[in-house]
Amino acid sequence: MPYTLPKLPYSYDALEPHIDAKTMEVHYSKHHQAYCDNANKALAGTDWAEKPIEEVLKNLEQLPPDKRTAVRNHGGGFYNHNLFWTFMGGNAREPGAELKAGLEKSFGGFDAFREKFEAAALGQFGSGWAWLVVSRQPSADSDQLEIVKTANQDSPISAGKVPLLAIDVWEHAYYLKYQNRRPDYVKAWWNVVNWEEVGRRFAEGK
Ligand code: MN
Repeated sequence: MPYTLPKLPYSYDALEPHIDAKTMEVHYSKHHQAYCDNANKALAGTDWAEKPIEEVLKNLEQLPPDKRTAVRNHGGGFYNHNLFWTFMGGNAREPGAELKAGLEKSFGGFDAFREKFEAAALGQFGSGWAWLVVSRQPSADSDQLEIVKTANQDSPISAGKVPLLAIDVWEHAYYLKYQNRRPDYVKAWWNVVNWEEVGRRFAEGK
């Protein structure tokens, strides 16, 4: 079965005024759709076409060499956006107690976490993403929270990490409203983070 877009969990205008409806519409119905279509094209006729996208991205090195780059880019774009929509919306405007404690332990506090995450989002040169991930450690009780950047549509699950939160810093994510002002977009984006979902992933990922 070819991949299809998950239904957007809210309307295009739900994140206004921080993320405008036009950006949401183009981002979801054009950009995300194109990643999905191109991932399907790249995987068609391979043994991987029937596998969940997570499994494909965790095993990129096993793909036929002539498909690998297309799957990394378009499959990554498909998967990263599937996650991205769920990281926004919702009602919780700050992390719950358990996640807050985790952020405190790894970064020294919620504010310190936000500073570091913003620095990653602004420091990603060109297109890419900034992520909060769980980084698996050899000892099961010592998993770490970590902030990482990825270029293009690379996904941290290809490096064995578990994503908890991410911001898309491709220009298509903000240019209509913020033009070149990525810092304004990143600052506004905090207002729409779905902390309930991040907390759920944190509890599940531990
Ligand atoms: Mn995007």
